[in-house]
Amino acid sequence: MIYDKNNVFAKIIRGEIPCNKVYEDEDLIAFHDINPAAPIHILALPKKSSINYSDFITSSSSAEISRFFTKVNQIAMSNTQDFRLVTNCGIESGQSVFHFHVHILGGKKFKDL
Ligand code: 5GP
Repeated sequence: MIYDKNNVFAKIIRGEIPCNKVYEDEDLIAFHDINPAAPIHILALPKKSSINYSDFITSSSSAEISRFFTKVNQIAMSNTQDFRLVTNCGIESGQSVFHFHVHILGGKKFKDL
C-alpha cells in the first residue's frame, strides 16, 4: 500500500479539516475521535507520514518511537486515570484511516480482551 497524502488525518495535520484538538507540537497531534467509542476517545498520531504501526516502527528511529510513545503516555495521563491503548494495523484489524494513529480510550470500565 502507498501512503495516501489525502487521507483524512493528513488533511487534519495540514489544517484543511478541523478537529477538536487536545495537544499539538512539531511531531505529534492529538484530537478527539469524531465517533467516540468511550467517554474519552483521543487519537494521537505522529505528523510524519506512515501508513500504520508497522510502517511507523520500521521507518522511524528508536528516538522517534520513544518520543512518540512517551508523549502518548503524557496525553493519556493528562486526560484520564486508567486507559486502554489500541492501534489497528491493516484492513483485517479494522484500520480505516491509513495514517498511523493510536486510540487512547478511557472513562469507563472495559471488558476483558
Ligand atoms: P481506525 O479504524 O483506522 O483504527 O480509526 C480511525 C478513527 O478515526 C475512527 O475511530 C473514526 O471515528 C475516526 N475518524 C474518522 N474520520 C475522522 C475525522 O474526520 N475526525 C476525527 N476527529 N476522527 C475521525
